Amino acid sequence: MNILWYKYDLRVTDHHPLVLANQSGPWAAIYIIEPMLWQEPDMSYRQYCFLASCLKDLDQQLRAIGQRLIIKVGEVEQVFSDLHQRYAISNVWAHEETKNSWTYSRDKKIRTWFKANHITFTECPHNGVVRRLKNRDGWAKQWYDQMYQPVIKRTDQSEAFTVHSDPIPLAEELNLQPDGIAVSLEGTRQKALQCLKSFLYQRGEHYTREMSSPVTAYTSCSRLSRYITYGVISMREVFHACTQRQQELNRLPPEHRGKWPNAMRSFASRLRWHCHFIQKLEDQPSIEYENMHRAYDTIRTMGEYPDRLQAWKNGQTGYPMIDACMRALIKEGWINFRMRAMLMSFASYHLWIDWRDSAPYLASLFVDYEPGIHYSQCQMQSGTTGINAIRIYNPIKQGIDQDPDGVFIRKWVKELSQAPSDEIHRPWEFENAYDYPAPIVDEKEARQHASKILYGMRKDQSHKAAAKEIVKKHASRKRPGRPKRPPKAKPSPQKEFEL
Ligand SMILES: Cc1cc2nc3c(=O)[nH]c(=O)nc-3n(C[C@H](O)[C@H](O)[C@H](O)COP(=O)(O)OP(=O)(O)OC[C@H]3O[C@@H](n4cnc5c(N)ncnc54)[C@H](O)[C@@H]3O)c2cc1C
Repeated sequence: MNILWYKYDLRVTDHHPLVLANQSGPWAAIYIIEPMLWQEPDMSYRQYCFLASCLKDLDQQLRAIGQRLIIKVGEVEQVFSDLHQRYAISNVWAHEETKNSWTYSRDKKIRTWFKANHITFTECPHNGVVRRLKNRDGWAKQWYDQMYQPVIKRTDQSEAFTVHSDPIPLAEELNLQPDGIAVSLEGTRQKALQCLKSFLYQRGEHYTREMSSPVTAYTSCSRLSRYITYGVISMREVFHACTQRQQELNRLPPEHRGKWPNAMRSFASRLRWHCHFIQKLEDQPSIEYENMHRAYDTIRTMGEYPDRLQAWKNGQTGYPMIDACMRALIKEGWINFRMRAMLMSFASYHLWIDWRDSAPYLASLFVDYEPGIHYSQCQMQSGTTGINAIRIYNPIKQGIDQDPDGVFIRKWVKELSQAPSDEIHRPWEFENAYDYPAPIVDEKEARQHASKILYGMRKDQSHKAAAKEIVKKHASRKRPGRPKRPPKAKPSPQKEFEL
């Protein structure tokens, strides 16, 4: 028996392990739902609902090439062991996976098991992340080389190895309870392609200017992250579609291009950032649970402020922009980059909560949860990388800048729905008795407390030495090897993407 083991690559197109499986004779496409994984604090109901939708759609995609998706529920080793006893497995193909520490340990164990049972396990690189990378020199160039490879479009009919499939369990059967999500979570390939097309041709023109405000970001950002996380669409497919759009724009007279060229440039850089952050976790899995710079081990204590943490989680901090963002995220499963950064910065700097207390909860709210990006960003927004600029977002200023008329706040903080624009960002300063909590901490005092500690630490010589090592390991390189600009796309003879 040969197996294609699906993980976070839930598609048929641009799938190297699928091509390898297709060259081998009959094979079975398997997805293993692991109940224990879903008990981890960063995993959630909303993510599972999205996954379930992706799996149903993948089954349809596979049927078009003569296959079907076999669902197995259980512990990975047990599932493979049962299959091996019954059918004698020869080969397993999968993409490399860089997710949380739970899956990291599982993969280590299963590799040993495959070896002991003489099963050939082939893992293909995914999205330009490099396993066993020696150092970051030339990483960006390698990434571009990967992205400029043609998208694998082979969808040859293949011979299926028929195996019993379990039904996809309901979330509740995995002990996952509804978590406040109020939007539908459709993980279909068609939705992903529609989302990409509408961004590249309709919604994205003002991306650069509108990405930071939650008033505009829901429409102006691509909203592709969840499809990329689950691999419904590959990074290379998105990159090629963007490059193709850039080429089309280049053929237009400049006066007809509008703001699109800028938008496409910013978007393309972010696609690379996606993999750049995952590469950090690939190179150092401890980023998920240890301060990147160990000097910060002493500044905050886990579990120290349970009441503050609870207020932050519930969107009850008394800071309207923070609470609006948290409540929006709970219902929508997504919020834009700037507001994610502000939520994290507020928890870590103003509330002085250890990021290990706040990050798993925030992760559980993101449908697009991607550990490599998430934990690196959580540490960046908490000052614990020791190498990034300290950025303490003032939630009042962010409210005034990003939601000047209070439209977003009024939508999500119903207690302030009648507040006029000049009161909405600081309701505590006015006599109106809003049924809304008083600020949980004093903004200025809390910010000054955090800055004093963090800037103080950076002056220390031993801090600087350790920071240098972190830069060496993780920072993207200007030189050598990193092209100043992305290399010009080689125009493909025929239009590659029919979106
Ligand atoms: C504290 C914090 C936690 C985050 N956690 C996640 C996470 O779990 N999963 C996740 O996908 N992103 C995460 N991000 C990054 C970013 O906020 C999201 O990728 C983005 O908001 C997704 O929306 P979009 O698809 O519309 O992005 P767009 O702005 O349209 O960008 C296109 C794609 O580029 C990538 N991207 C965009 N911004 C970044 C960035 N700053 N770093 C790395 N990749 C980026 C994403 O894959 C995104 O889908 C986090 C940011 C912060 C500050």
